[in-house]
Amino acid sequence: MSESTIREIKNALPTPCYVIDEERIIRNLEILHGVEIRTGAKILLAQKAFSCYHLYPLIGEYLSGTACSGLFEARLGYEEMGRENHVFSAAYRESEIDEIISYCGHIIFNSFSQLDRYRERVLSAGKKIGLRINPEYSTQTDHEIYDPCSPSSRLGIRQKNFRYDDIDGVTGLHFHTLCEQNSDDLEATLNAVEEKFGAALKKMEWINFGGGHHITREDYDISRLERCIRRMQDKYGLEVYLEPGEAVALNAGYLVTELLDITENDMLSAIVDTSAACHMPDVLEMPYRPPLLDSGAPGEKAFSYRFGSQTCLAGDSIGIYSFDKPLKIGDRLVFGDMAIYSMVKNNTFNGMPLPEIFLLKRDNSVISLNKFGYEDFRNRL
Ligand SMILES: *Cc1c(COP(=O)(O)O)cnc(C)c1O
Repeated sequence: MSESTIREIKNALPTPCYVIDEERIIRNLEILHGVEIRTGAKILLAQKAFSCYHLYPLIGEYLSGTACSGLFEARLGYEEMGRENHVFSAAYRESEIDEIISYCGHIIFNSFSQLDRYRERVLSAGKKIGLRINPEYSTQTDHEIYDPCSPSSRLGIRQKNFRYDDIDGVTGLHFHTLCEQNSDDLEATLNAVEEKFGAALKKMEWINFGGGHHITREDYDISRLERCIRRMQDKYGLEVYLEPGEAVALNAGYLVTELLDITENDMLSAIVDTSAACHMPDVLEMPYRPPLLDSGAPGEKAFSYRFGSQTCLAGDSIGIYSFDKPLKIGDRLVFGDMAIYSMVKNNTFNGMPLPEIFLLKRDNSVISLNKFGYEDFRNRL
């Protein structure tokens, strides 16, 4: 339904712009909340994927809180959602740790040296301590930069470095090893976690399964996820947390762009007023080809174009898409799944403007959440 709305309104929007789809966000939240209700597990929004705080009051109605990666996310989650707030960082700065502790109920450390350094400060503030472990069990090979179990990964404490005699005050374990994965990979990961850290689990009160669970994707096996949660609850008496980012806003945003020119270079190039490098950097980093409304795979439909940006970066190319009819200069095009890892990662490289952010509300009205201009480019330099 909201896709037909975006087709209707796209010509009235200034480009480039992001449009967050409230109806889709709510649909995702209902799925996640269902898991919480049925299992008693607590689900946190990993702000790293989606920090559009204008929606935090809505998200907080369904989820239990926020997960943060450092001081700024900790403050944003505390001020804008105000529910449970958990933080993990590979290392905390001395000058920031007290403020972080003031915002967060759960502080997760990545090493015993960080634990030794800050343990007393967390405990005297009455906050909880967790340790991130590395089960050294890779479940994906597609995206190595997103594999915290890859060789010499700095993320998480390995079994050989885990000091069972030095966990006073530690009440939880945290792992994060998945990326856009289904619950069979979670189940296999839990086997590795139990095998390597089962003795520690017996002494804990809570466990955090991290993120990377694609729970709101159509083919996700939710009942297997719920069995995984119950297994940790029943066997060890643990409170279970999950902190998905993607799953909260999966397929819940668009990036609307205008076609500025068409040139012919071995094939047709469509030059648009958005940029992979600036507005959807994961397209280049992951890499992936984002969905584009009403288009087909390269060559699938009669007219194929390579989509590229206005910038000077030769590789700033979004992908090849095909259409039933030739495109015309001035056409509006709509990329899908643009709520996650887009706004949080965008930049003004090449002096590209930042897209305005709109919210498409459930009643089909559209409101502007934030607008940017020259000053936003200038102020960062
Ligand atoms: C990235 C990250 C998440 C969220 O991951 P998604 O893939 O967006 O679900 C959660 N926890 C930690 C520690 C992370 O690094």
